[in-house]
Amino acid sequence: MPINIAIDGPAGAGKSTVAKKLAEDYGYIYVDTGAMYRAMALYFLRQGIDSHDEAAIGRACETVSISLEYENGIQQVYLNGENVSSELRTEAVGNMASNTSVYAPVRKKLVELQRELAGRRDVVMDGRDIGTAVLPDATLKVYLTASSHVRAERRYKELTERGESCSLEAIEQDIIERDYRDMHRELSPLKQAEDAILLDTSALNFEEVMREMEKLVEAAKKNPIAVGNF
Ligand code: C5P
Repeated sequence: MPINIAIDGPAGAGKSTVAKKLAEDYGYIYVDTGAMYRAMALYFLRQGIDSHDEAAIGRACETVSISLEYENGIQQVYLNGENVSSELRTEAVGNMASNTSVYAPVRKKLVELQRELAGRRDVVMDGRDIGTAVLPDATLKVYLTASSHVRAERRYKELTERGESCSLEAIEQDIIERDYRDMHRELSPLKQAEDAILLDTSALNFEEVMREMEKLVEAAKKNPIAVGNF
């Protein structure tokens, strides 16, 4: 059985940084499922499809193709054969992803791909529904979170370092709205799985989070069932 580590949590909690490092340290594949929802969203944006037009989104899902490849251990996302990885991290694509990830055809298509990958490779997979819906039998489930203010500050730093001008208040508002949508949608809402470990990173730095994660992985590898009962 491959080792499957599921990391869920709200936007900006540090899931991708932590998951990426963990995957690198252990030699597992890092699967960024948010990027898959973003690639779908990019397609809808390019097609001029309205985020509320469920019928058009359903039709688009029948023909669009999303696939993942790994180059030097880094995930590359292909949309209809085109590598779109560098176009996915904008606020516009993120908001479209959050609005369109509520639809069943979008989720069905991507969950199939995620399960197929986790069935044959050791993975660290991050997202919103990995522990609750995609990989219910994961070796380890972690719910990574932090206060909305801390998360907004982290995103603000990331964006300003990239040279993008933005307002901290607007980012926090955006994060709150996105969390609300992700937590209140009907299909696979964001929530902590019953057997997931809660890790609040508000007061922790990256090294401290990694130390916690490594302890959890080591414990889970020895005893996948008992890890949830610390
Ligand atoms: O994590 P990231 O910000 O890249 O995700 C973008 C959006 O994709 C999220 O706001 C969420 O609505 C959706 N998503 C999801 N399920 C996942 C991963 C992401 O619904 N497993």
